Amino acid sequence: MQNRNAVVTGSTSGIGLATVRELAGRGCNVMVNGFGDRAEIDRTCAGIAEQSGTRIVYSGADLSRPEEARAMMAEAADLLGPVDILVNNAGIQHVAALHEFPDDKWDLLLAVNLSAAFHTIKAAVPAMRERGWGRIVNTASVLGMVGAPHKPAYVAAKHGIIGLTKSVSIELAPHGITCNAVCPGTVLTPIIEKQIAQQAQVTGLPEDQVLKAVFLEKMPTGRLIGPEEVAAAIAFLCSDAAASITGAVIPVDGGYTTH
Ligand code: NAD
Repeated sequence: MQNRNAVVTGSTSGIGLATVRELAGRGCNVMVNGFGDRAEIDRTCAGIAEQSGTRIVYSGADLSRPEEARAMMAEAADLLGPVDILVNNAGIQHVAALHEFPDDKWDLLLAVNLSAAFHTIKAAVPAMRERGWGRIVNTASVLGMVGAPHKPAYVAAKHGIIGLTKSVSIELAPHGITCNAVCPGTVLTPIIEKQIAQQAQVTGLPEDQVLKAVFLEKMPTGRLIGPEEVAAAIAFLCSDAAASITGAVIPVDGGYTTH
């Protein structure tokens, strides 16, 4: 994977940041994207670049806006060169009873968790087709495979991104481009930390019991998944060794979806 150019969306924390580390460690130049404290992001990027000897650049594009998603992809090509690897990982959550679920949250979750991937893929594909090689990995979720209460927008968007993955994979396979989805179970990252209070409110459970009752009990392994475990699966799908894996929906879920 030496000298491949990658864009990893939503990579200022959690699974995305672990993926940047993994890809950089394998020799990729990477564009990092997401929100956070700019000085801290710059320090993190500089640290990864120093350790890996690759180029790490940053875009603060807000992917709920299609024009920013397109501009980010153009900037990545300008700064790094043609994009070989695209990991659509940015994601947000909102938890509420259906009859109280805010309309604006529905629109925002669909925009970030689903439509952003359409726009980045659309922007990345012409150069990938030209060079006859490309890797696209979409971070879906176990909630792209099964349902869950109080998360209508997230579940709909994650099911949607699996549909997008399958469509793209068939269309682009003849061009040497693969497109796959990974479906994490529960990984303790900011997205989960932020929803514990919302989960407690909607389920009536005390906050200290939410993690166990809502998340851990679904996973036969009985433990939280590390972001680096998901990153390893993503990086494998981005490698030459995974050339024949496309349209796959790969759980990294501690057995969540097996029962
Ligand atoms: P996280 O909160 O650490 O990461 C989310 C990233 O998305 C952050 O970098 C954030 O800044 C970025 N982001 C949010 N809104 C954005 C926007 N409008 N534009 C650009 N970037 C934006 O959480 P995570 O767990 O690492 O989540 C990564 C992906 O994994 C998400 O798609 C999430 O749905 C999925 N996932 C997570 C879990 C889990 O248990 N943590 C489980 C299944 C799926």
